[in-house]
Amino acid sequence: MMTNQFEIRTAEERPALMRASAAVDTRAIQALDSAHYLHPFTDHKLLAEKGVRVMVKGEGIYLWDSEGKRVLDGMSGLWCVNVGYGRKELADAACRQMMEMPYYNSFFNTTNVPAVKLAALLAEVSPPQFQHVFFTNSGSEGNDTVVRLVRRYWDLLEQPRRKLIIGRINGYHGSTMAGASLGGMAYMHAQGDLPIPGIAHIQQPYWFEHGRGMSQDAFGLKAAGWLEEKILEVGPDRVAAFIGEPLQGAGGVIIPPDSYWPEIQRICDRYGILLVSDEVICGFGRLGEWFGCQKFGYRPDLMTFAKGVTSGYIPLGGVMVGKRVADVLIDKGGEFEHGFTYSGHPVACAVALENIDIIRRESLVEKVRDDSSPYLRHKFEALAVHPLVGMAETCGLVAGLVLVRDKRTLECFAPELGVGMLCRGHMFGNGMIMRAVGDRMIIAPPLVITRTQIDEMIDLIRCCLDATLDELRQRNWI
Ligand SMILES: *Cc1c(COP(=O)(O)O)cnc(C)c1O
Repeated sequence: MMTNQFEIRTAEERPALMRASAAVDTRAIQALDSAHYLHPFTDHKLLAEKGVRVMVKGEGIYLWDSEGKRVLDGMSGLWCVNVGYGRKELADAACRQMMEMPYYNSFFNTTNVPAVKLAALLAEVSPPQFQHVFFTNSGSEGNDTVVRLVRRYWDLLEQPRRKLIIGRINGYHGSTMAGASLGGMAYMHAQGDLPIPGIAHIQQPYWFEHGRGMSQDAFGLKAAGWLEEKILEVGPDRVAAFIGEPLQGAGGVIIPPDSYWPEIQRICDRYGILLVSDEVICGFGRLGEWFGCQKFGYRPDLMTFAKGVTSGYIPLGGVMVGKRVADVLIDKGGEFEHGFTYSGHPVACAVALENIDIIRRESLVEKVRDDSSPYLRHKFEALAVHPLVGMAETCGLVAGLVLVRDKRTLECFAPELGVGMLCRGHMFGNGMIMRAVGDRMIIAPPLVITRTQIDEMIDLIRCCLDATLDELRQRNWI
């Protein structure tokens, strides 16, 4: 089908790959996996029946499984492997720091050099209001930290009534109690009695579902207006903050109209509400700017990051704290009773420093902005002519398309048919990792992807859309 010019790139690669997969007894690993390993967001029983896929090696934008099969990772792992797999510089940075000093905490009036250097570097690459950072180990912990910071801020300003944080339906902010509560995933709220008190949600700015018949711009203003309606409904003196992802990732790559964020900014300013940007996916070059708020033109007070900060090589997250909050917290706050054993972990920070250095050395942000994202847009939007595709859109290096039953009327499939998952099955089977969120098929490839590789990826996607269409016809679902 496709030429695999990448399959043997160097003389060493083939033997290394053979070693990696030969060393793994797939059946044995699968048996142990189902006996002991509870996976995140997984139906354990169902997975045990199907048999889990064992990934053993990564290089560039490709992964290999234990059967020696190559896949193109269109999702950068989980939106995080921005600089691609197999970067020796990152392994070396971790190794050097582990040998020097693997760990010390930042409690008790101490610090470590990588954490300090990273804090300064993050201040440098972030928008100018951000001069301070609070480190966590993940995006979820970052958003828990946001809740603590926001509540503390308003207490310190002697406005303790301001406690409500407004998020969005189908937003994703992680899976801890606070993270899942800020997010608007009904299936997550249904388990564990969420959301926790003090959190409300407004509808998402998804034109395809809520705005058809309107222009994108008019819909963006309308969707932002839902925030103002909510604020007026509960009372402006009770609202502490609004949180949103620049574009919604886990929700299915929901790209807001250009008019949306500036209007959200205006509303937050008008009522004095803190604006929080969850940059866990959009940060570190994903949209062709360092942060998504720069792409969409707004000025947050707090900014959560994780994933791309280390390209996923080691866990690290945190919150950029803007001047407005930092001034109050530092000048009036005394001790902030919050933090983690691994806040500012020296090894994680050393890897992040090297990762950000790679992003700069290789001009990845500029490359995405000027070259790969316009190229991806051109190629991906052309998939819209496919009979199964109702709408195909991109922003930076994320893209999503909607599978529809009737292209002309944009009639969708019944959700219980699971057409997205069926399509995902064809993708996985044919060496392409593309994720399904309902019937939205989405990608977010590593930022190092080349034009030739984008061509290869689009060919794979088209081919798998054809296979999906064939299967739907055979089943008489279309
Ligand atoms: C992944 C993600 C999180 C959660 O990060 P974890 O590291 O999985 O805790 C939070 N917010 C957004 C926008 C994410 O995509």
